[in-house]
Amino acid sequence: MDLAMRAEDVAFRDEVRAFLDENLTDDLKAHARLTPGILADHDLRVEWLKRLHKRGWSAPSWPKEYGGPGWNVMQRFIFASECAAAGAPISSNMGLSMVGPTLMGHGRKEQKDYYLPRILSGEDWWCQGYSEPGSGSDLASLQTRAVADGDDYVINGTKLWTTGAHIANKMFCLVRTDPKAKPQEGISFILIDDMSAPGIKVEPIITLAGDHEVNQVFFDDVRVPKKNLVGAENNGWTVAKYLLEFERGGSAHGANLRNGLNRLRRIASDERSSDGARLIDDPAFRRKIDETDVEVTAVEFTEHRIMSALSNGQNPGAASSIIKTRGTETNQKITELAIEAIAYYAGPHVVEARIWGSNVAPVGPEHALMPMAKYLNTRASSIYGGSNEVQRNIMAKAVLGL
Ligand SMILES: Cc1cc2nc3c(=O)[nH]c(=O)nc-3n(C[C@H](O)[C@H](O)[C@H](O)COP(=O)(O)OP(=O)(O)OC[C@H]3O[C@@H](n4cnc5c(N)ncnc54)[C@H](O)[C@@H]3O)c2cc1C
Repeated sequence: MDLAMRAEDVAFRDEVRAFLDENLTDDLKAHARLTPGILADHDLRVEWLKRLHKRGWSAPSWPKEYGGPGWNVMQRFIFASECAAAGAPISSNMGLSMVGPTLMGHGRKEQKDYYLPRILSGEDWWCQGYSEPGSGSDLASLQTRAVADGDDYVINGTKLWTTGAHIANKMFCLVRTDPKAKPQEGISFILIDDMSAPGIKVEPIITLAGDHEVNQVFFDDVRVPKKNLVGAENNGWTVAKYLLEFERGGSAHGANLRNGLNRLRRIASDERSSDGARLIDDPAFRRKIDETDVEVTAVEFTEHRIMSALSNGQNPGAASSIIKTRGTETNQKITELAIEAIAYYAGPHVVEARIWGSNVAPVGPEHALMPMAKYLNTRASSIYGGSNEVQRNIMAKAVLGL
């Protein structure tokens, strides 16, 4: 793959920059800065999506026939890099990144026609109901039961760690429709249209960082029409696996890592080491930053390889596991170095000071507000989306043939 930017790429980059200058408001940037994880304030996130949608850019990876911009991989890469560098909110939209592409691959025409435009416009917000207590890595053991009753299924059970269930109006869900079949063969993939339907209860789980991102969701005799199945009954495992490739390989890891590394460099330029010199000039700390830079570069190049495969019509396959593993671990390393850089100021982690609109003052310099929140938040990144141990198993099988 030729990595040099051609004239049309430079022109496209300038177009993206002009759009960001005009549309990425100070409020959006400030809020993105105060968000430790993936879930920015919902209203602002919808506002950002609507601005992108107005320009036809809300779904960078979707093909034109479904309302995407029809960009090539280079344009998608440029767009993601420019958004990250400008401090745009991380969209983390499971409609755009997961259920949308899955419907394109496995949905019926009526499902595509109805759901896809509503994802693009921000009218619908989706959450993912895969994991359950005891069924995370071992997903095929899931117990949430859907029993056929006339034109409906009646759903009972519980989903755990459901990101954004408290703000989503829809859920894509794995349910057991045949308890007698082999675990993978008795599962169906179903769309729950209304998260406020009778029998659904969403209970918050507050994370170590003090944020409400994840939930436990309970289903008590919840009726869902059979027409909401995606794929055939008991064939949900195939649909679920198709979706996981988008979950693991989808986001702009390199651009976000580069952004985090630049932020770390700025913190280390402001902080002092024990002799009063700038921390960034301390040879030992400098070496750690430079080593991390090499790792970020390796992730960027792996991403380029995936882009190259995609542009030649190939599937990323096990490369999405490589990106997931190296991307999340490098990000964790960056957050660890930020904690080391702010030293004592990592202690007073004032959650209230980063609540949007709060007048609680942070303790210490402004740059000390976010590192602890980001450090705590990124611990989960090597667990969700399939834990890194499980990704290593996949690579051992698919790449090393073990
Ligand atoms: C912040 C956060 C957000 C999440 N959001 C969602 C969501 O929106 N929707 C959703 O459905 N789920 C979500 N999850 C759930 C996530 O996918 C699971 O937590 C994950 O798959 C691990 O499953 P588990 O928690 O059951 O842990 P377990 O599977 O019990 O794993 C425990 C430990 O054992 C290791 N392990 C397990 N099996 C193996 C193996 N075969 N080989 C080697 N090691 C193994 C794991 O790596 C881990 O270290 C989220 C989780 C977190 C933390």
